[in-house]
Amino acid sequence: MRKEKPVALVAIDGPSGSGKSALAKELALGLGILYIDTGAMYRALGLVAKNRGIPFEEGGALTTFLEEIHFKYADGKGLVSVDGEDLTEAIREHSVSELASVFSALPSVRRYLGQFQRALPGQRPCVMEGRDVGTVIFPDAFCKFFITASVETRARRRYEQLLGKYSPGDISLEAILQDQRKRDERDKARNHAPLARAPDAEIIDTSDYTLHEVTALVAKKVRKRALEEGISL
Ligand code: C5P
Repeated sequence: MRKEKPVALVAIDGPSGSGKSALAKELALGLGILYIDTGAMYRALGLVAKNRGIPFEEGGALTTFLEEIHFKYADGKGLVSVDGEDLTEAIREHSVSELASVFSALPSVRRYLGQFQRALPGQRPCVMEGRDVGTVIFPDAFCKFFITASVETRARRRYEQLLGKYSPGDISLEAILQDQRKRDERDKARNHAPLARAPDAEIIDTSDYTLHEVTALVAKKVRKRALEEGISL
């Protein structure tokens, strides 16, 4: 028997390109609850640290950086800013994916953002998306999913997404596939809060389904679970 009531939070974890962002957004919209994108936070902090020449290693410079910045995530709007600079667009550049993956492996960065993420929802029910939401940030979330898809499917989706921004001559599917594999390995192998499925998270493989189908399936599961747990969304 569980002693305390679980937190009214849906944890959506999984590797990049699994379709978890699109799913998490749609799900939150459909349920009429808050959507929180933790990847955007690692991207924003990593980008600003890089622009300011902060070395991507533990030490005084990183500590001071984390102590002094004013970090803001305007939930609901997905707006992320550091010291008043709006980074919402800039963090979506392809190069930021790679640097966020390196930066997010630093323990003090994870501590800083972990604390921020735990405090953010307050009493509001929400869908929180990331890599360690169900394992580390909110292990007591009432509903957890681990979203996945084959690495080839994920690379193809990423490629198609990037075609909207870059011309076909500037990006290659093969290079994206290699990047994806490298990023997966790094996310899984890091010592602190690696990408992993929580034992009580349900695996959803999105390879052969449309966004609409996956969202409908997950929303149904969330509603059922909320009823069972006595959670009002
Ligand atoms: O989800 P997104 O691709 O925007 O995340 C960018 C990077 O940030 C990931 O590759 C991962 O290394 C890192 N990340 C993380 N923990 C999270 C969210 C993202 O380590 N909760």
